[in-house]
Amino acid sequence: MGSATAWQLARRGHSVVLLEQFGPGHQQGSSHGATRIFRVAYRDPTYVRLATESLRAWAELQQESGQVLLEQSGQIDHGDPEAIEQVVNNLEAAGFEAERLSPTQAQELWPGMRFDQAVVHSVDGGRVFADRTVQALHQCATTRGVTVAFHEPVQSIDSSADGVVLQTPLRKVHAGMVVIAAGAWVEDLLPGEFLLPKLTVSEQVPVHFRKRNPSMRWPSFLHHMHANADALTFGAYGMESPLAGSAATGSAASNAESLGLKVGVDNATDVGQVVAYVNKWHPGMHPDPVSSTQCLFTSTSDQQFILQRQGPIVVCSPCSGHGFKFTPMIGELVADMCEGLPARYNFSSQI
Ligand SMILES: Cc1cc2nc3c(=O)[nH]c(=O)nc-3n(C[C@H](O)[C@H](O)[C@H](O)COP(=O)(O)OP(=O)(O)OC[C@H]3O[C@@H](n4cnc5c(N)ncnc54)[C@H](O)[C@@H]3O)c2cc1C
Repeated sequence: MGSATAWQLARRGHSVVLLEQFGPGHQQGSSHGATRIFRVAYRDPTYVRLATESLRAWAELQQESGQVLLEQSGQIDHGDPEAIEQVVNNLEAAGFEAERLSPTQAQELWPGMRFDQAVVHSVDGGRVFADRTVQALHQCATTRGVTVAFHEPVQSIDSSADGVVLQTPLRKVHAGMVVIAAGAWVEDLLPGEFLLPKLTVSEQVPVHFRKRNPSMRWPSFLHHMHANADALTFGAYGMESPLAGSAATGSAASNAESLGLKVGVDNATDVGQVVAYVNKWHPGMHPDPVSSTQCLFTSTSDQQFILQRQGPIVVCSPCSGHGFKFTPMIGELVADMCEGLPARYNFSSQI
């Protein structure tokens, strides 16, 4: 999110320094790995609108970087009928296609998967390529004059007469404004007077599985497993993703055989819980996990994003396990905040 913000600010002609505590492509935060789900299908209409705008922002980033970063290969929501009804209504209200299917019809289309109660297929969803996006943002930001400094942790942020002073082990950086987009570490950098909604940081373990039939395809999916769940809570999710050792390319069709399924189950603390889920709902997968990665999950209690400005400090944490799909658009919104433009979105996370 910090990289996207740096890129968007540089596009508007601002002078930007991006400070990162670790090295390029590090795996210690929330944005590493080959893929994330992209979807316009949301139960909360605010995020349908944000995803719609994000499609434009992804196109701009793809054009500037010359890379394929988003693949609209289709996405399924299935499970709790009330949740599916909300998704269908929101998609249709926003002018997107929403194909209702029975579980049996869905299984005919994706025979490796089992479907729960109600199903909607959104052709506009799919996946984004995460590692490649971060790299593209660094490349585009650098080309536009941003100084990207790796291995340079910010130790403190203090107000100054004309902005802020950041202390790193190497220097003091004086700036008119600072954007704190520090993911799981955001609270460590907050000046005392800055109040944020309560954040919880946990480690999530998405697990990769191999297909029994390598030519079989899977949609990106969200499984709404709980009736009466909050609008941004579901249960399990997954998407096709390159298995370790195979290259992440933008053309899924050309390398479908090297794709496995990356699956996450909410609140699963060990791989066994994800394996049990895959055994039941994805009989087309070998249930032995190929690999698992840890990823830091920063959440607000209502799964809403945090974009807050107080004087020369903006805090940017589009978190709660669903922020990546909006990355270039979040950069645009934060750039607006830095320039003092009116907020286009009101994310309602409570303090
Ligand atoms: C398991 C998992 C699955 C997910 N699935 C999806 C999905 O399918 N679709 C989707 O849209 N989203 C998904 N998300 C959410 C998405 O990945 C995150 O919302 C997003 O990556 C958050 O990015 P960030 O920039 O806020 O945090 P990060 O990527 O963690 O970036 C914060 C950066 O700040 C740096 N930093 C911290 N402190 C300092 C300091 N003091 N000085 C300098 N640098 C510092 C860190 O090193 C890090 O590089 C998922 C998240 C997880 C964990």
